[in-house]
Amino acid sequence: MFSTCSLWDSTNRLYYPPMVVQVKSRIRHSSKTMEGNQQKVEANVLLLGAENVGKSALTVRFLTRRFIGEYGDIESIYSHTDKIDGRDICFNIWDSLCPQNVEESGYISDRQLQWADGYILVYSICDRASFNMVRQQVQCIRQAKQKLASTAQIIIVGNKRDLQHRRTVSSEEGRLLALSADCGFFEVSAAETYHGVLMVFHELFELIREARALKKGTAGFKGIVRSMSAVFGRKRTE
Ligand code: GDP
Ligand code: MG
Repeated sequence: MFSTCSLWDSTNRLYYPPMVVQVKSRIRHSSKTMEGNQQKVEANVLLLGAENVGKSALTVRFLTRRFIGEYGDIESIYSHTDKIDGRDICFNIWDSLCPQNVEESGYISDRQLQWADGYILVYSICDRASFNMVRQQVQCIRQAKQKLASTAQIIIVGNKRDLQHRRTVSSEEGRLLALSADCGFFEVSAAETYHGVLMVFHELFELIREARALKKGTAGFKGIVRSMSAVFGRKRTE
């Protein structure tokens, strides 16, 4: 199933339409905490990918709406509360560092695999090696989750969409990888837009939410429509 949408900035200029490919519900444990009388929903999001693809830039954009240019080699887990459909959602975001050892560059630790509810796998559209690493990491996650008889929510992100003149990975390749690996897909520019980045995190949360609802048998109308669209391959525009 495909769904596409366009983004407009405040001057009504069309900004890099992010592409969402194949959105499918999966099963995952529920993660909720009580704060006062309100039930707060949490989602653990792990950002993975090669060095320099913009993992920290995407994280900082989502947290602060800003692009600051240089981020250093820091590995952190951030907590950020965002409102989705009027509800407070606490995102715990693990901005990972890529292992230096080249042989282990696609490596994902057991701790990361157990921690994450959802994954954002980032490559740069200017860096084919980083795209190949995402391919490896999708396989690694799928195999690990299969062993645990569990599933994983994954969004593949092609970043640096502003650098069209240096593009080496086509949108089509990214989209096809996402389709074949049962993942969502966006192309964004962390440097130029906040909204594309926001959509990545919100879409991932939506997948996590639907998977939890499916597990509880309360997927709701939206989840059922998505599942049916996935089965019948209908094109949908949001
Ligand atoms: P990480 O190693 O994956 O965390 O990558 P960083 O977030 O540190 O970014 C690496 C470099 O790419 C930095 O110099 C960023 O300013 C730059 N960068 C990140 N996102 C973009 C983008 O969307 N467009 C451009 N042109 N540069 C970006
Ligand atoms: Mg970083």
